Amino acid sequence: MNKMALAIHGGAGTILKSLMTEELELEYRNGLRNALEIGWGILQKGGNALEAVEAAVCELENFPLFNAGRGSVFTHDGKNEMDAAIMDGKTLDAGAVAFVKNIKNPIMLARLVMEKTAHILLAGDGANRFAREMELEIADDAYFYTEHRYQQLLKARDEGVVQLDHTVEEPELVEGATFPDEKKFGTVGAVACDSNGNLAAATSTGGMTNKKYGRIGDTPIIGAGTYAENQTCAVSCTGHGEFFMAGVTAYDVAARMKYKNIDIVKAAEETVEHLTKIGGEGGFIAVDSFGNVAMPFNSEGMYRGFVTSSDELTVKIYRN
Ligand code: ASP
Repeated sequence: MNKMALAIHGGAGTILKSLMTEELELEYRNGLRNALEIGWGILQKGGNALEAVEAAVCELENFPLFNAGRGSVFTHDGKNEMDAAIMDGKTLDAGAVAFVKNIKNPIMLARLVMEKTAHILLAGDGANRFAREMELEIADDAYFYTEHRYQQLLKARDEGVVQLDHTVEEPELVEGATFPDEKKFGTVGAVACDSNGNLAAATSTGGMTNKKYGRIGDTPIIGAGTYAENQTCAVSCTGHGEFFMAGVTAYDVAARMKYKNIDIVKAAEETVEHLTKIGGEGGFIAVDSFGNVAMPFNSEGMYRGFVTSSDELTVKIYRN
């Protein structure tokens, strides 16, 4: 039996212990732990990588502290517009959705695009119409409203900046928010290797606070924010999306492994170096078909965790 592995992330950025309360840190850790346990349970029961990453990401979407599903950030117009993608490393089938609204679990919609349409990416009203046809759960605006996200939007609008989740120059509490206003990217993602050595990747996000109408990030772009291919690796990214698109970051890890014949850890290291060189901030999680995991990032921290057949479930937030 192949060594199994599951890794997840809940965003990268300036996540400093000095900005975190003990209670909040515990909440984050529990959120990550729950998602890992759900995905790992599926793999242990013989479920495949695709099921595991979908379930783990669903759990992270339902957790209000991460910028995906329920905790999505607000656009300039005060809306929650979400992107998500999923990819099967065995078949190279992929499905993605972009600027969808009121979808409780965008990752489920991405999977339906993959399985029920002849397309890879559906966007906007069309994607929402498809969700209704598939009778996927729709949630009202109130479900997506979180006070700290709204405060972030008001602040970003005031300052006239487009903010990557929680971006601020100085560590300070936003008035009225019960949330340390750190600089981080809050997208969620999961990658898995199942007992047959099959890989899958899934990523879901609310994008950037105060983003312009119609802005789509790297998350739903196959090869940029999400990629899976059994021959090499499965990757899910988080960070300043425009750079991940320009750097084709998720595929970059796979390409380095394939064309340079290097292992996942070395390839991941090189990809982050390249990302830094082109000015991008963030990180990603990656797994290969031997169950090896890499979780590099060039920011202060990244909410992340992993578990494999030979490593205990581990959750980490800060660099060290
Ligand atoms: N990569 C996401 C985007 O640019 C943001 C994030 O990772 O939080 O939409």
